[in-house]
Amino acid sequence: MFTTVTEDEREFAIKPMNCPGHIQIFKHGLRSYRELPYRVAEFGIVHRYEPSGALHGLMRVRGFTQDDAHIFCTHAQLADECLKINDLILSIYRDFGFEHVVVKLSTRPEKRVGADALWDRAEADMSEVLDQIARQSGGTIKTGINPGEGAFYGPKFEYVLRDAIGRDWQCGTTQVDFNLPGRFGAFYIDADGDKKTPVMIHRAIFGSMERFAGILLENTAGHLPLWLAPVQVKVLTIVSEADAYAEEVLAALNKAGLRAEVDLRNEKINYKVREHSLAKVPVLLVVGKREAEERTVSMRRLGTDRQQVLAMAPAVGALAQEGVPPDLARGLS
Ligand code: ZN
Repeated sequence: MFTTVTEDEREFAIKPMNCPGHIQIFKHGLRSYRELPYRVAEFGIVHRYEPSGALHGLMRVRGFTQDDAHIFCTHAQLADECLKINDLILSIYRDFGFEHVVVKLSTRPEKRVGADALWDRAEADMSEVLDQIARQSGGTIKTGINPGEGAFYGPKFEYVLRDAIGRDWQCGTTQVDFNLPGRFGAFYIDADGDKKTPVMIHRAIFGSMERFAGILLENTAGHLPLWLAPVQVKVLTIVSEADAYAEEVLAALNKAGLRAEVDLRNEKINYKVREHSLAKVPVLLVVGKREAEERTVSMRRLGTDRQQVLAMAPAVGALAQEGVPPDLARGLS
């Protein structure tokens, strides 16, 4: 942990996790059973004092952003919430191009808190959810058990991604917790007017945003799909007479919502193509005198040597469509 002591001897720490903060939000005011499941999410920055030898690129860092959520629910709502989270996690992994996902259920560890009866029930519920995940996927999602690997406060699902060269990365988790809410004094008023302690689910889809960015870059070798690339299109001129037309193409691309830039430098076209290909820009539009006269563009895709001459306006329209992120594309269709 990173801590510091002020001159008046008050001790401060940089937060290592978001859970207690979300419990405080839940505890703000009196909660009714009607408000459950109560879901809180944030992209929270957390810090861990990793030994310097363990630090590794984007994969293991001392300060990172968790896509963290906590769901407060009743025991009866637990399985349904776990399934909803599972659907969300798998749909997001698919959008990023990860089809091979293994879901593992980690069960009670040696050192743990909470009564065995609670663990029995949670593990039974979660193995049922695990079976359902396998059935729903029609055999495409593999499942497994990690005996004794659960958190000290409850069992968890771990989502393991396989990248393009067969390495496994653990990213998302869904952890069931019957202990922290009680320890922090969180409760809700049930239908019968009694105070009850909610179950809490800790869930992260990406885990660490930094680490996920690293995994994504490894998996794609930097060759990001069009919707995700920071610069989607570069317009390159062959001769300075095409400058005005290149600016016009750029304006059309920007207007269509694409992240585009123009390269008007007085350099050989092969030099420009090579430079922007090394920067992994997915689409290069080459324009010279002829393209300017005919209002066309020569399109070159990353990873191919082929060039395709297309009319400018339809080419921009097709790129804009291709650049729509998959979640928005689903909404449009
Ligand atoms: Zn948590």
